[in-house]
Amino acid sequence: MLSVAEAQELVLSNARPLPAVTAELSPALLGRRLAEAVVSDVDSPPHDKSAMDGYAICRADLRKGQILSIIEEIAAGQVPTRTIRPGLCSRIMTGAPIPAGTDAVVPLEQTRLTGDRVELMDGSTNENIVRRGREMRQGDTILNLGQVLGPVEVGVLATVGHTRVSVTPAPTLAVVSTGDEVVEPSETPGPGQLRNSNGSMLLALAAGAGAVPRYLGIARDDVESLRKRIREGLSSDVLVLSGGVSMGARDLVPAVLATENVRPIFHKVLMKPGKPILFGVCDTNDRRCLVFGLPGNPVSSLVCFALFVRPALWRSAGHSVPLDFTVSARLTEEFAYRTDRPTYHPAELAVGPTGWEVRALPGGGSSDLLSLTRANALVVLPDGDHVHRTGQLLPVVRLDPVPWREGWPARLCK
Ligand code: AMP
Ligand code: MG
Repeated sequence: MLSVAEAQELVLSNARPLPAVTAELSPALLGRRLAEAVVSDVDSPPHDKSAMDGYAICRADLRKGQILSIIEEIAAGQVPTRTIRPGLCSRIMTGAPIPAGTDAVVPLEQTRLTGDRVELMDGSTNENIVRRGREMRQGDTILNLGQVLGPVEVGVLATVGHTRVSVTPAPTLAVVSTGDEVVEPSETPGPGQLRNSNGSMLLALAAGAGAVPRYLGIARDDVESLRKRIREGLSSDVLVLSGGVSMGARDLVPAVLATENVRPIFHKVLMKPGKPILFGVCDTNDRRCLVFGLPGNPVSSLVCFALFVRPALWRSAGHSVPLDFTVSARLTEEFAYRTDRPTYHPAELAVGPTGWEVRALPGGGSSDLLSLTRANALVVLPDGDHVHRTGQLLPVVRLDPVPWREGWPARLCK
């Protein structure tokens, strides 16, 4: 059976960055990766401007007690018309263009106004002028190909009027829940039934990983019901199904995927929970859909999403993905555990005085989603019967990392 690392490698080698699209300048650009370099169409600032509210003066007049005549008032957005000469000054607001002849702007706080004249209270001041083009010059490359757009970059795009932006798009992700026993969250489960927690959770996980999620409802454990939703889901970049991938008589997902031209890449991974996971690809024309069949137990679905679906979404969005996105953390409480497969156990991860620290949480197994509300990570426990001692280092998968923002060294990425 494949190891988790081998399976992750197969997922990443089958996922590829989506073709670039043109997107409007909007908050939807957050987290997108630029598919072009962006050049400034302006000098910024566009003119020598005042850094203060104050008075534009000649430096020769800068003396304590000097009295100057005010010849003009220049608000932001106005253009000065008068030249500053000895004995004269103009009232100027922050950001307004500096009038000719100005050597410095004396801040308002260092002056005293009497009628149409002003007295300087201090013999020295900073220049308080921001020179034209100090931040950027017209023609400068200001954002690079591949750069990730955050709020600051969105502001910079606005500065240079780049309102149509070439980016690698957010992947679309369709969610299909399966199971005759599953009912929608708004319903009251009857005997033998339970509510569809996976649907909502997987949509939220997808949104959190930067994808555009789409819910396709609950497929019953019959071929037609599954086929209909799988066909619809294959038009997305990623299709995630929950349930129906194990060995039960009604676990029909693998067979139906095969009839819909989904090429299986792997089925089953040596891990706990999540062993029955299935991964395949469906190529139509030049589009590819990555298909994940996750086991139905909610904790299994979550673990498989974190280990396999999330890296595939990052890759599809053009991000570089670390080959190993575990961190090594020191155990803070002894923990005895017996398992026949590498186990991803709910844990609490924190930064301690000497680095990452982890504590395994008491967990109720692969259907106990509630226990995961207290977890922010999964500690990876090796197979066998072990007492894990306090102070020991164990690998930990964070449930909420944003690797492209953390600047992973390129050598660790694929
Ligand atoms: P399966 O992988 O289809 O064998 O499902 C395993 C178990 O996971 C089922 O017995 C259900 O208890 C549970 N389950 C399946 N689908 C869901 C779902 N959408 N939401 C919550 N629990 C589910
Ligand atoms: Mg099922």
